[in-house]
Amino acid sequence: MKKIFLFFLFGVIIFSASRLFAQNFWEEKSEHFILEYYAQEDLDSAKRVLNRAEEYYHKIAYQIGYARYGNFWTWNDRVRIIVYPDQKVFMMETQQPFWAKGSAIRHKKLFEQKKIVSFKQDGDFLTTILPHEMAHLIWLDFLGVGRPVPLWFEEGIAQLFEEGYEQKALEIMKYFIREEKQIGIDSLMTLDINNETEILKVSVFYAQSLSIVHFLIKAYGTQSFQQLCGYLKDGRPFVEALRATYTNQIRSIEELEKKWLIYMKS
Ligand SMILES: [Zn+2]
Repeated sequence: MKKIFLFFLFGVIIFSASRLFAQNFWEEKSEHFILEYYAQEDLDSAKRVLNRAEEYYHKIAYQIGYARYGNFWTWNDRVRIIVYPDQKVFMMETQQPFWAKGSAIRHKKLFEQKKIVSFKQDGDFLTTILPHEMAHLIWLDFLGVGRPVPLWFEEGIAQLFEEGYEQKALEIMKYFIREEKQIGIDSLMTLDINNETEILKVSVFYAQSLSIVHFLIKAYGTQSFQQLCGYLKDGRPFVEALRATYTNQIRSIEELEKKWLIYMKS
């Protein structure tokens, strides 16, 4: 699906008996993360990853309003980031086949285990994959179980933190709107993109998700956005949370779509 997700697996790691490198890894810790790496000379880059992860942690938590709930992921609750030495080991260790057009393969249990897994050669890891997957993890942690939030909203948030991507996505979405390729809000609300095979639709879905989240933040501010996230955390249905947050401005998803389109065309 998205190029940046190539070869990245965010899923349950099945630690089978065949795990080859278990006896041979190093760990570096920061306040909220433990990084597992496989070559001693990678200590410096391990530290770089941890520094970045700590920066993203604060940025993401602030944006969704998690920061006000206090410090999470400390001590024994730290998130483990695993960077395998290469793609071959990564595939072997994660028991995954080679996926041609990769997407983030995410399994529910991984969120419980709080792991972010990638491999050393992935150039996009630090600036795109790490923040994107961290945002998913933080968002789901914040939300708690049994909160039905539309997938586009979550993907919109996750993409916000990919460095240098927001403006690009807006331009792409403006093009899709000119071509009238946007997904109608009704379909968007229930769309599970993981089952979608049409590449164009996947691209529209991601760009549209990010652009709507971007619109909400730009037009109505971060504080309101945090409030919206808070209502969702409280278990309010999406439309109700939207209405409670943007009183008199957005009273329905149709109104959200209308205002977003005006914003995008301006
Ligand atoms: Zn995602």
